[in-house]
Amino acid sequence: MQARLQDRVAVITGAGSGIGLATARRFASEGAKVVAVDLNEDAGKAAADEVGGEFVAADVSDEAAVKALFDGVAERYGRLDIAFNNAGISPPDDDSILDTGVEAWERVLKVNSTSVYFCCKYAIPHMLAQGKGSIINTASFVALLGAATSQIAYTASKGAVLSMTRELGVQFARQGVRVNALCPGPIATPLLMELFAKDPERAQRRLVHVPMGRFGTPEEIAGAVAFLASDDASFITASTFLVDGGITGA
Ligand code: NAD
Repeated sequence: MQARLQDRVAVITGAGSGIGLATARRFASEGAKVVAVDLNEDAGKAAADEVGGEFVAADVSDEAAVKALFDGVAERYGRLDIAFNNAGISPPDDDSILDTGVEAWERVLKVNSTSVYFCCKYAIPHMLAQGKGSIINTASFVALLGAATSQIAYTASKGAVLSMTRELGVQFARQGVRVNALCPGPIATPLLMELFAKDPERAQRRLVHVPMGRFGTPEEIAGAVAFLASDDASFITASTFLVDGGITGA
């Protein structure tokens, strides 16, 4: 059987670590040409080198950089098949609304939500031109729960990703561009571990709510992203795709 993503051109943001890195590996193993994007040049370059892809250093919250990224990929490869808009932050200082200042709020919204708006805005024209494309935006299970995450900006930023995704999925459904949101549950990556290092009890509290009784792995998310990116998901768009160990069902 041919690899599902054979020769597909795939942009992955936040490819230097965690979920993005695992997905870069998975996409490459399924035949994709990976463009690994990250703010962290060492990590992003290492990821690209490992999977035989290209590294592009970019801050996804910078509109000009994102436009240059997608236009550049379309020009160099002649196409753009997949955009996994995944880069995000979950700063340990993002807390209850009572302690969150407007600067912290705006920073998280900019990196987690405005970046997705930029990535979709500049990826979609290339996909429309070829009549096909798959976009996967990383949201989070926290956008679906009022589960006292105590991270007001992070939770709100992921809610924006979900609604943006639904709207875009519907808007472009008849033009061949699928847009889906991925909602990981708690996944053992540097992002989450940094948060738990600040507050170890929080990890225990979170674990109690996962029916499977464990955190997920980045590889378990990567498998779902590869599915959504592939033609196996050809009738799936505007969806909120949960890979969360059952946490939102409990
Ligand atoms: P991670 O910290 O391991 O990796 C994130 C990567 O994004 C890093 O390499 C970082 O350098 C890069 N990045 C951050 N800001 C950037 C920017 N402005 N421009 C370009 N690159 C940037 O995190 P992760 O856990 O793999 O998270 C990936 C995504 O999954 C995030 O959107 C996160 O919110 C989401 N998510 C994670 C979890 C979890 O439990 N880990 C759960 C739900 C959703």
